[in-house]
Amino acid sequence: MMKEYIEEAEKALLHTYNRYQIVLERGEGVYLYDLEGKKYLDFAAGIAVFALGYGNKAYNDALKAQIDKLIHTSNYYYNVPAVEAAKKLKKVSGMDRVFFTNSGAEAMEGAIKAARKHAWLKDGSTNHEIIALNHSFHGRTMGALSVTGNPHYREAFEPGIGNIRFADMNDFDSIKSQVNDRTCAILLETVQGEGGIYPAEEDFLKKVRALCDEKDILLILDEVQCGMGRTGYMFAWQKYGVKPDIMATAKALGCGVPVGAFLMNEKTASSSLAAGDHGTTYGGNPLACAAVNKVLDLFEENHIIEHVGRIAPYLEERLDGLKEKYGFVEERRGAGLMQGLVLNKPVAPYIQKALDKGLILINAGTNIIRLVPPLIVTEKNVDEMIGILESCFSEIHD
Ligand SMILES: *Cc1c(COP(=O)(O)O)cnc(C)c1O
Repeated sequence: MMKEYIEEAEKALLHTYNRYQIVLERGEGVYLYDLEGKKYLDFAAGIAVFALGYGNKAYNDALKAQIDKLIHTSNYYYNVPAVEAAKKLKKVSGMDRVFFTNSGAEAMEGAIKAARKHAWLKDGSTNHEIIALNHSFHGRTMGALSVTGNPHYREAFEPGIGNIRFADMNDFDSIKSQVNDRTCAILLETVQGEGGIYPAEEDFLKKVRALCDEKDILLILDEVQCGMGRTGYMFAWQKYGVKPDIMATAKALGCGVPVGAFLMNEKTASSSLAAGDHGTTYGGNPLACAAVNKVLDLFEENHIIEHVGRIAPYLEERLDGLKEKYGFVEERRGAGLMQGLVLNKPVAPYIQKALDKGLILINAGTNIIRLVPPLIVTEKNVDEMIGILESCFSEIHD
């Protein structure tokens, strides 16, 4: 049965993904089930999206209630879920203004536009530069792609938006040496995700912030993957005491309903995007914002952040145990429930094997197993994951 759907999919969908050969049908907590009823422990959460786990009744009920009321209005009018979601997002982030988008890439597009407009208002020049980082990932649209520090993703689509320079994560001098009087923004993920799970070091981030303050440059933090509780803080930068001027969020923000946002402090908001400068038909629609509202409520009611703080050290400990035991495990790095296990060889065979054994994992680059489970995982789930992963480690010999 799955095979037929897969064949049909390969005839109908544009082949932009090499998909794993399963058709997922439903989910419950941290488990997913395919069409044939096979059960999978999910340590990918739809790429760091489904923080609350599948089939959360309160979340589902909130969406159903909103569907029966109103799904879409456009941004020509106000709607209550968007007002409430924006208020809550301001509260948990300490930022001042919210623009809702439909995805992470679109949040980055808005952030880039805001930075350019901000700089343009200052000096009327249209030659401003943005500094982004190597190994970064910010999305697949042209603007977000242009600041993505992976030449392989960009190559066939050049030229990008232009005036982008690339520096290195945790190498302050590589940033500083590229700053000039045209630099309008420094843009980075607080913890790099796709590029290999590289957390920013506190000292690095503080120096970048200070440089931005000194030179009147905007600091843009992409929290699309590392935000929304994943690192044990609502947003990863909150750990460092370093606040961005603009930040982007998405992925777990709606826990499955497509929604993102970029947020700004008041200073940036008052001198960047104004009426007519930016828009979206769907962004912040009542259904998406009902999801954001319920997600933020459930984070609070279920003490999700505290839970991540408790469970993450256990995950780290168990992963470190694998490093001790298996010579081909080079490193474990990450923050909270965003962890990378670095092997000295490609991880694809292990991920496939794990899938066969009922464990969903994803990679970050060729050699890194990325662990971004739903934030509600328990020690028992971690043990189960480690058990399956170990059996994969011991069965594959090359
Ligand atoms: C996934 C991701 C994006 C892009 O988000 P989409 O919703 O896929 O457009 C941007 N930045 C980071 C850090 C991401 O992980």
